[in-house]
Amino acid sequence: METRQIDKQVVKVHTYNTIVVGAGAAGMNCAVHLYEFMKQKGVADAQSRIAVITRGLPLGASRMSGSDKQTYYKMGTSPDVPDSAESFTKTLTAAGCTHGDLALAEAVGSLQEFYHLVQLGVPFPHDAMGSFAGYKTDHDPYERATSAGPKTSKMMSEFLQAQVETYGVAIFDKQEVVQLLTIGTDQKKRIVAVVTMDRKAQEGANYALKLFLAENIVLAAGGPGALYETTVYPKGQLGIHGLAFEAGLAGENLTESQFGLASIKFRWNVSGTYMQVVPRIYSTDADGNDEREFLANYFPTMGKMATNIFLKGYQWPFDPQRIESLQSSLVDILVFNETQKSRRVFMDFRRNPVPTGSMRRFDLNDLEEEALSYLKQTGAQQDTPIQRLAHMNPLAIEIYSEHGIDLYCEPLEIAVCAQHNNGGFGVNKWWESNIPHTFVIGEMAGTHGVKRPGGSALNAGQTGGLRAAEYIANVYGPDIADYSSHSGLIDEQLKACVDQLDKIAASTGQCTPVEVHKQIRLRMTTSAGHIRQIDDAKQALAEAIKLYKDINNGGFKLSGPTDMFLAVQARHLALTSIAYLKAIVTLLEQGSGSRGSHLVLSEDGIEIHPDITDNVRGRALKFKPENEQLRNSVLRLEYNADSPELFRAQNVVLRSAPSGRKAFESLWRDFRQASIFKIGAG
Ligand SMILES: Cc1cc2nc3c(=O)[nH]c(=O)nc-3n(C[C@H](O)[C@H](O)[C@H](O)COP(=O)(O)OP(=O)(O)OC[C@H]3O[C@@H](n4cnc5c(N)ncnc54)[C@H](O)[C@@H]3O)c2cc1C
Repeated sequence: METRQIDKQVVKVHTYNTIVVGAGAAGMNCAVHLYEFMKQKGVADAQSRIAVITRGLPLGASRMSGSDKQTYYKMGTSPDVPDSAESFTKTLTAAGCTHGDLALAEAVGSLQEFYHLVQLGVPFPHDAMGSFAGYKTDHDPYERATSAGPKTSKMMSEFLQAQVETYGVAIFDKQEVVQLLTIGTDQKKRIVAVVTMDRKAQEGANYALKLFLAENIVLAAGGPGALYETTVYPKGQLGIHGLAFEAGLAGENLTESQFGLASIKFRWNVSGTYMQVVPRIYSTDADGNDEREFLANYFPTMGKMATNIFLKGYQWPFDPQRIESLQSSLVDILVFNETQKSRRVFMDFRRNPVPTGSMRRFDLNDLEEEALSYLKQTGAQQDTPIQRLAHMNPLAIEIYSEHGIDLYCEPLEIAVCAQHNNGGFGVNKWWESNIPHTFVIGEMAGTHGVKRPGGSALNAGQTGGLRAAEYIANVYGPDIADYSSHSGLIDEQLKACVDQLDKIAASTGQCTPVEVHKQIRLRMTTSAGHIRQIDDAKQALAEAIKLYKDINNGGFKLSGPTDMFLAVQARHLALTSIAYLKAIVTLLEQGSGSRGSHLVLSEDGIEIHPDITDNVRGRALKFKPENEQLRNSVLRLEYNADSPELFRAQNVVLRSAPSGRKAFESLWRDFRQASIFKIGAG
């Protein structure tokens, strides 16, 4: 084992061709494909050239998150409804801010990757003829959505991990990424190494550092879940956005986070059947007393209210374009409004919605046609929501009982939670970032635009990993990194990394790392959540910059051994929060309006509901509609230490999907000569 001595630290050095950071569905899939591509090219010991590192194998959204039937969105496989990659691409790009080439690659790769998962053992259901059943999400006519149950992504990553292990690819578990090391500048910049702290070995002043040198780095560390207080991202899903920004990667569409209703005691989305069975939704005071049927005050009839609860099932993300005239996202607004009054909101599957005043009692037959015909078709006309849920999807009840919540006996506390970021880091059509040899896949890649069909995140993670692996194997080759001519520069950065850790360890700041994490989360939930306002966002950005500077100057108040990890995380998370707020402020300054999954408050906008009022002035709250002009560009953000707000933002034009098709012989020649990998090749 090679080691390097940096001051008092003995740094263990590992050298590979490719390091994959992150062991979720995206990272594991990329490692599998890379091994296979290398093997196909005759590399005998492919397994010894690739490694996966993660802060925790059981962590991350793929392993820990899901919903009633977690969706995988792929091209249609119905035997009688034709689908095409072009039509799939149109769906992915419909709401704007999505690069066409990425959408087309996600479309074309979708079935290859879906069948890859089937082959590995993920139990996607099929009928007696072998036809993979699908269902519609958001009026998609092609039945593109499918599911292997509440834990689809968990199964995906576990089956992929089994394959990685069969191939003998090393997995370094419990590695906290602390820095990405670079060489070169501008166009010649490269990320050459990942530095981690080994969570198993770190003790006091021994930071247990590991240096992973590689020719290629694949970043698959997921979304920035730890940014939010009200969140359904799993605990411990941190991401490495701040570190990636510092290394020079450019972010895209960071403003487009998704929010929606989720349970908070056990973090899980309450989409799909949880809503389609139309449970009672009510609020209580902080101690669980004073129950109120708050929704009923805002809907004219029980039928309208119950139908909107039903529609939340497949109109799950909060959508400002589904508020006006009593649509389903009004439910999210009302739940949020209630929690803002320090009240708690619950879903109770034991009871149907309860009327107030002159509202009629709940009767399934009062549901509007779309909801009623669905419940009739599925035979879900039992008396209570829990009976309907048990009939339609017993696994949706089981997942809660596995986590100590019995939906037959107790209500479920819910809130409007941060769930996913459609944005992330910019990539080209091979998922290579703005820094050559560094690829970004999965949720960390910003390939989705303002809206995405439910389930397309998992598809994007798989196709992105496939594309990155194919490119690495064919263009960059299998060589193990040799940075001997750059060892001075690498040691210099390692030394700076150790100095920074020493500085943190010796610091006597005012706040503990836990307090800093909390401060970031509260700020992001308040000012960068699903309801935004320009002055508030500007104020939050200024506070976030101050916090980051305070941390860098004064450090933390450390008390226990785990504080070192928390402090390292807090530092890069603080930078991540600046990036997100800077993007939000810039977009609001451009007059973006309400789009995707966030609403922008504005005095001269559209009324949300006459009874939803500004707490201070008592006037009806209004929101600004979307500025559709901005759909044709992507907001790109790069770290710049000299800029007052630490980031520079610019709008970049969208890349289109290549449309010309080549004759087979020409394509075959391009493929044989590997010219398909050239930039600009269609
Ligand atoms: C409640 C919920 C429901 C969802 N439902 C759906 C759905 O139905 N359909 C759909 O398509 N998508 C859904 N998503 C989104 C989807 O699950 C994620 O986008 C996807 O699983 C992300 O996969 P990934 O491999 O990119 O990252 P993850 O699975 O999040 O993995 C990240 C990896 O990086 C590691 N890591 C993170 N930070 C660090 C660090 N600092 N140092 C070292 N390692 C680190 C983690 O430990 C983990 O191994 C849902 C998300 C949530 C939260």
